[in-house]
Amino acid sequence: MVKNFSAELTKYSRIGLFSHINPDGDAIGSQLALSFWLEQQGLQTLLFNDDPVPGNMKWLEGSTRVEAPSEALVRTCDAFVLVDGNHPSRFGNMQHFLQETDKPVFLIDHHMDPPESFFHAMLWDPDASSTAFLVWRIFEESGLSLINRSVAEALYSGIMTDTGSFRFPTVTAGTHEAVASLLQYGKIRPDEVYSKIYEGKTLGQYQLLGNALNSIDLHEDGRVATMVVTQRQLEETGSTLEDLEGFVNYPLAIEGVLVSVFLYEKNGRIKVSLRGKSRVDLNKLARSFEGGGHFNAAGAWHPGPVEKATWELVAEISRFLNE
Ligand code: 5GP
Ligand code: MN
Repeated sequence: MVKNFSAELTKYSRIGLFSHINPDGDAIGSQLALSFWLEQQGLQTLLFNDDPVPGNMKWLEGSTRVEAPSEALVRTCDAFVLVDGNHPSRFGNMQHFLQETDKPVFLIDHHMDPPESFFHAMLWDPDASSTAFLVWRIFEESGLSLINRSVAEALYSGIMTDTGSFRFPTVTAGTHEAVASLLQYGKIRPDEVYSKIYEGKTLGQYQLLGNALNSIDLHEDGRVATMVVTQRQLEETGSTLEDLEGFVNYPLAIEGVLVSVFLYEKNGRIKVSLRGKSRVDLNKLARSFEGGGHFNAAGAWHPGPVEKATWELVAEISRFLNE
């Protein structure tokens, strides 16, 4: 599967790589590492995202190449790859162009239920810990010696951030084999990468986290936890939406909690982050709230207000739990 995918992709010469809107470490790490590999094959790449690279990923080599796509520039490409999102709608302003173009659109992703027939070819595995792991498999197939420091930093960042630092159920022996090769060939140090990504916190971010933790409520006999951050708290602590990354995991560490629901305001609506460790399919649940994701991690939207969003989500999760 990997070999065919790589062979098909390298038939093209100028490839536009899109990572999903509001990119995370996996999106950016995968996009950068893929561009390094394609350029090692002698191809040109352009890196697109409507949104900026998150502050804690800007140190990665090549991150300044990620630019907001203009249609004129996008039209100069002869193929496209969508990275870490399963549908054109996850890729922002160019989604309609991507849906209508005659040029081939490839997918590298680990989210459930991509519209397979839409894509020219897919490197897709819903059991993969991260999209970066799938990009690593391209390197594995074509030769691990192509993994230099920049590649290793990008892939390690992607795998680490999407596995909660190697602790999620998606982590396998294969994940650790991939990481071992990144340390061996890329000569990177885990403590240094971790520190660059997770240890640039401000006091305001910790104060915001304090507010968030104080807001935790338990429902359904302690099986569902909700947590809220308001716009006002963001302003008072000098924080941005980017600073909320990872907050949703805290309530899930409370004994007995099976589903964590984190709500905050974004673009005049309520963005909901969901994390679980039960038989509740959060991808399915999120899809009925204009979202999606994975079985145990998903994102959704609600028109608000936040109290109504909380109530409706808890009611729906309760229905799923008692099914
Ligand atoms: P997060 O809670 O970190 O925003 O997202 C968790 C997971 O759900 C990620 O894998 C992300 O790709 C997916 N996700 C988040 N928001 C959305 C959304 O609005 N639509 C879809 N389809 N997936 C989302
Ligand atoms: Mn991912």
